[in-house]
Amino acid sequence: MSAGSVAPVVIVGAGLAAWTTARELRKRDAAVPIVLVTQDSGDFYAKPTLSNAFGQKRSPQQLVTTAAADMAANLHVQLHAHSTVQSMDTAARTLELVQAGAVQTLAYGQLVLATGAHPIRIPMQGDAANAVSSVNHLDDLRRLHADLHALPARAQGQAATVLVMGAGLIGCEFANDLLSAGYAVHVVDPSPRPLAALLPAPAGEQLRQALQDLGVVWHFGTTVQRLDAATGGAQRWLATLANGTTLATDAVLSAVGLRADTALASQAGIACERGVLVDAQLQTSAPGVYALGDCAQYASAGGRTLPYVMPIMNAARVLAANLAGTPDVLVFPLMPVAVKTPALPITVAAPDPALQGEWVQDAEATDAQAGGAWRFVDAAGAQRGFVLTGKQTAKRMEWSKATLP
Ligand SMILES: Cc1cc2nc3c(=O)[nH]c(=O)nc-3n(C[C@H](O)[C@H](O)[C@H](O)COP(=O)(O)OP(=O)(O)OC[C@H]3O[C@@H](n4cnc5c(N)ncnc54)[C@H](O)[C@@H]3O)c2cc1C
Repeated sequence: MSAGSVAPVVIVGAGLAAWTTARELRKRDAAVPIVLVTQDSGDFYAKPTLSNAFGQKRSPQQLVTTAAADMAANLHVQLHAHSTVQSMDTAARTLELVQAGAVQTLAYGQLVLATGAHPIRIPMQGDAANAVSSVNHLDDLRRLHADLHALPARAQGQAATVLVMGAGLIGCEFANDLLSAGYAVHVVDPSPRPLAALLPAPAGEQLRQALQDLGVVWHFGTTVQRLDAATGGAQRWLATLANGTTLATDAVLSAVGLRADTALASQAGIACERGVLVDAQLQTSAPGVYALGDCAQYASAGGRTLPYVMPIMNAARVLAANLAGTPDVLVFPLMPVAVKTPALPITVAAPDPALQGEWVQDAEATDAQAGGAWRFVDAAGAQRGFVLTGKQTAKRMEWSKATLP
């Protein structure tokens, strides 16, 4: 059969998961037709750079490392950009996409869902509740960038204020980034400290102090309840917190978490829980349909979603092998994540939340100047995770070797 008559591998999405799968598949098979369908432009950028662009004075456009047309040409991929897949028929192996208002049907041999995740929106009261933004895509950053640069307060040379909802990884990174770009930053979170779900308390305390020293004003143990247009004063909005505090601000950035985008898969009857369920071969419950990236919930990770870069790189290699007809199974290695908070660099290899164990502090490094080091030890005494802060992050390789995945 000639390559032209083979039903293509169709990939839905154009984020890191989609493009990495296309690249890995091309390495293994120069001929198989690959079609990529995405509702965005398809331009390639590293999503982690979204949360350090302000401080580095890089415009959103400067984050694009390869234009979509070049990606498509380099990988011999047929690209349908600005096209939304609206439904799939997994029995007929077809999908329907909408491009500029016109509906097209596309046949696939194998299908990869790489549809990412949506920012979680917390219901809020107030006449300005719709002004809350979130950043999970380059286009979101473009809007935030344009909005902040148009603020009258900046034209007068005053520091504009941004209220960040959420002191998790993305909230803390944006807080640090916006401060380095000269904004005044408030962070609101119901937890008692930043990165409370990820770090042992003393490490979170170091981060709280480091960002506070830089200028962050923290509001822990509370949430934003309403956002209204401010009457008078320099700032645009007035946020009311559950503890009764009111804060005048120019922008509100929500970073309260992501939810896997399972809409397409669920609609097609594919099994989903917190993400699209995939087995160790990245196969969903529908034959010939695979998933990876922020939309996936991995059997290889004990049924967790893993919305980070390293899981995608590992999953894409195994998926490409399976798509190319050389079966392989996914075993995740230890995948430490570097938190991009220059005020206090942190590397965290998070243990599986289902593991019983405790955090043990390394006696040699305990203050914020020197950084800190904590190991997660399971009930059998094995090291199953770690957190390194400040100068201790240099030990990342050494500690990774000493940790069981
Ligand atoms: C601000 C920020 C900072 C981060 N920093 C780090 C970090 O430092 N380290 C780290 O490991 N991870 C980090 N992450 C996480 C990491 O970037 C993501 O896990 C990864 O980029 C997700 O890639 P993806 O391809 O799965 O999803 P996405 O990049 O979200 O791509 C989804 C794609 O699917 C397309 N799509 C969705 N539905 C449809 C449809 N129906 N039809 C057509 N197309 C569709 C979208 O247009 C998009 O192209 C960060 C994330 C954010 C938001």
